[in-house]
Amino acid sequence: MSYNQRYPIISFRIESTYKKKLQTEATNKKLSLSDLAKLVLQDYAQGKLISPKKSLDLEIAQARLEKLKVETNYLRMKNDYFEKFNKPLSDSGTRMLSRAVKHQQLISPENTQSPYDESNNRFQCVDCGNCFDFDSVETFLTEMREYKNHIIAKHNRDLNVIEKDVFGRVRFNE
Ligand SMILES: [Zn+2]
Repeated sequence: MSYNQRYPIISFRIESTYKKKLQTEATNKKLSLSDLAKLVLQDYAQGKLISPKKSLDLEIAQARLEKLKVETNYLRMKNDYFEKFNKPLSDSGTRMLSRAVKHQQLISPENTQSPYDESNNRFQCVDCGNCFDFDSVETFLTEMREYKNHIIAKHNRDLNVIEKDVFGRVRFNE
């Protein structure tokens, strides 16, 4: 293959406004105008430049992926809950979770832990492990309140979906 066959010449006319724009770009990059044009065309031929249409498609695909991730996370949390407590999340819990997911205030997967330790008659903070023991209906209710206060004061947050749901369900077992 001759040199001319290996490195053919392309020459074409271009509107002067585009040429000016490209010339500025080339000067900034310390390239000649034709070297800049060559680089752009090479990138295009190698698929490194994507058309605006493709870039929009890519954005849509990414948005779909994000949505899918959020939905998967939501389903996983619901499923985790079911596995831990052997019953589905209550309707109000589901609504809260769905709202939380929509607002992207996702509770971390490790925080699907219940604060209620039934076998030891106590609540246990899911963040720090602090215990709230009870031995009567009265202390059960007081400690539940203490737990809520503890979460607000010590961990600077509201009860999460699981905590709210559990506190809404649990009764003191004599
Ligand atoms: Zn704590």
